[in-house]
Amino acid sequence: MISSVPSDPPSHDSVVDESNSQVRAKGRGSAIPFGRSLLPSGSPFGWNARGRSLYVQFLTTLLMVIVTISFAAFDGWPFLLEQPDDEAALRTTTNLAIGGLAFWFVFYVWTWRRPNPANNGFSWLLFVTIAAHIVTGTAVCYALGPYTAASGLITVAALLLGMVLLRRRYLWTAVAGWFVSMFAMHFLSEAGVLPFLALFQMSLESSDIAKVAAERAAAAALIYIPFAIVMDHLISVWRQDERDLYEAAQFDSLTGAYTRGFAVAVMQRALSRATDEGRPLAVLMVDLDHFKRINDAHGHARGDLVLKQTTHAIQSTLRAEDIVGRFGGEEFVVLLSGVDLQQAMGAAERCRAAVESMEVPSAPYLSVTASVGVAAFPEHASELDGLLKASDRAMYDAKAKGRNRVESAGA
Ligand code: GH3
Ligand code: MG
Ligand code: MG
Repeated sequence: MISSVPSDPPSHDSVVDESNSQVRAKGRGSAIPFGRSLLPSGSPFGWNARGRSLYVQFLTTLLMVIVTISFAAFDGWPFLLEQPDDEAALRTTTNLAIGGLAFWFVFYVWTWRRPNPANNGFSWLLFVTIAAHIVTGTAVCYALGPYTAASGLITVAALLLGMVLLRRRYLWTAVAGWFVSMFAMHFLSEAGVLPFLALFQMSLESSDIAKVAAERAAAAALIYIPFAIVMDHLISVWRQDERDLYEAAQFDSLTGAYTRGFAVAVMQRALSRATDEGRPLAVLMVDLDHFKRINDAHGHARGDLVLKQTTHAIQSTLRAEDIVGRFGGEEFVVLLSGVDLQQAMGAAERCRAAVESMEVPSAPYLSVTASVGVAAFPEHASELDGLLKASDRAMYDAKAKGRNRVESAGA
């Protein structure tokens, strides 16, 4: 009946807070339609790293295509720069393009090889996106000059990292980094520190450095800021999705108690802390008596209502830091930190009494009772698995002795 103890829950900076009282996860309210409508669904957990990165790659490709077309069609707009036309320039830009594309490729392979439960097969989206990058990346590097292209690649890499790690600040750091690296390269090349001076002089000859800088700042504003705004928006949508999924994994949808898996993980942590600090801890196993009869006599819907009420009744007798998990259909587990066996027996009795005194709306004669098994750390077991088993045995002991009672393990 008791499964083995899973490992720690995933740490999630904004969501895990085991010390808070359990509050039923609230719905998100209004979803953000723009992001959602653009997101394809697929894996059972929505977007994984690969799905996200593919989508971002797609946006990046689109951006590069727009830049390249606007450059070709509008005579350099919005860059207003002359295109380099000597051999060295071509070699440099090609090398940069190859370097940039090698980065993309490694990134793709990395994300591609990550498990995706929904789709492990060959992806045409991936293939087309790589091909488009090779073409447009080379063109952009050639057209914009190596420093602009290099800083652009660094920027997009940082943007991607921000997307994959879902860190918004990376996006804006990337945009700021674009400006800084671009101007730094300009001035370093003019000062003769960077080796590509000859190439850059071509674009500097026709206009003074301030004009070039202003043009490139305008280019950055036109390209990366809208791009970052879109990504920033998507990150907020994805983060919310993750939070929703995490809450769904955390709370039982019917009763609002912790789900079994999450309760076990949180109890595991509490037990580790108790062990480290040499403090006691107790586990209560609460099982409703003859619940099948309640379902049979009053219907499943009323049975559900009883389960909800039972959860509230149990929680009402506990402290905010105590943990209530729904372990099975009509079985709940309670963890009491810093509580010894004697205190736990008292808490168990209060739980039992609270369930017994529940009044089910529109069924005033419906009597609900529970049997409770109590196990304490360190008396009955030092591992969570052992404590759960001990409390389970004690609960069955209570059933055997006539139900609607509390028994302790090893009694
Ligand atoms: P005992 O006193 O020995 O524990 O008897 P019991 O009838 O409570 O135990 P049993 O395990 O035989 O039956 C549990 C019942 O709980 C069977 C199942 O239909 C019901 N159940 C499980 N989950 C739910 C649920 O989510 N809603 C409702 N309404 N009933 C549920
Ligand atoms: Mg039962
Ligand atoms: Mg049961």
